[in-house]
Parts: sequence; structure tokens; C-alpha cells
Amino acid sequence: MIERTLTIIKPDSVEKKNVGAIIAHLESEGFEILAARMTRLSEAQARAFYEVHKERPFYNDLVAYMTSGPVWPMCLQREDAIGYLRKVMGATNPAEAEPGTIRALYGESIERNAIHGSDSPENAAGEIAFFFPTADLA
Ligand code: GDP
Repeated sequence: MIERTLTIIKPDSVEKKNVGAIIAHLESEGFEILAARMTRLSEAQARAFYEVHKERPFYNDLVAYMTSGPVWPMCLQREDAIGYLRKVMGATNPAEAEPGTIRALYGESIERNAIHGSDSPENAAGEIAFFFPTADLA
């Protein structure tokens, strides 16, 4: 089934100038970019985006990291986009990610792990709407 998902190229990737390589990687895996922009998250936006993690011990660190520099949210479309992005992205901890995955290639720690990918259809829909009005999707 053709699905849409949300990725965010995270601050560590922007800092290391890996944005182009990550976009090329995603395109080579068959993802179509329906919307993309560069932005800097406010603390309130980062807290809201990661609300599901608010009880986790790393929540404040995660918010500080995600607001530390610009990010690139993108809406991606592909067959089985949600599951396939999770596969191409690799495990949360880059040290445990399959070789060749984006996190294995570009991540540096369990926190600074290069990109985000929605983990379910419900979250994908909510996360796409968080960043992009429907009218902006190609
Ligand atoms: P994901 O779906 O693979 O991104 O992983 P989660 O939803 O579990 O976590 C969200 C984000 O929080 C991760 O992508 C990391 O940036 C960060 N994170 C997850 N686990 C840890 C942790 O144990 N410590 C720290 N500092 N950050 C973490």
C-alpha cells in the first residue's frame, strides 16, 4: 500500500553537512519527497512533538538536542513507507543499526542518531500534520 511518513533530518546531520547525502539515500530507496523545509524547532514545538516520551529520563536531553540547531522535516511517500523507512533508518542506537542503514552511516550516538521516522500510521498522520498543512503536500 502506498503510504506517507514523516522523517526529520536531525541537528547532528545538518551540523555535519549530511543533509544532501541523506536525501540522496532516501530517494535512491524509492521515497518521493512530497514536502520538505528547513526550520529550527522552538522548545515548545520539540516538547509537543516528543510528548509521548515525556516520562522518559532522556526527554529533557532530547528536547535540548532537537532545538540545538536547524532540522529538515520531510513528508515521504512510497509503498509501505512507514515500515520501509524504519528499516532504511536502522535501530535507534547507531551502534546496533544494520550496516548500510542511515543511522549506521551517519548517526553518532543513541541520541544524535541522524534522522527521525514515524513508527505507526497513526503517528505518521499526526506528525505530517504537525509540520505540513495538507495543501502543501505535492
Ligand atoms: P526512534 O523511534 O528509533 O527514534 O526511538 P524512540 O522513539 O525510542 O526515541 C526517540 C528519540 O529519542 C531517539 O531517536 C533518540 O534521538 C532519543 N533517544 C532514544 N533513546 C535514548 C536514550 O536512551 N538516551 C538519549 N539521550 N536519547 C535517546
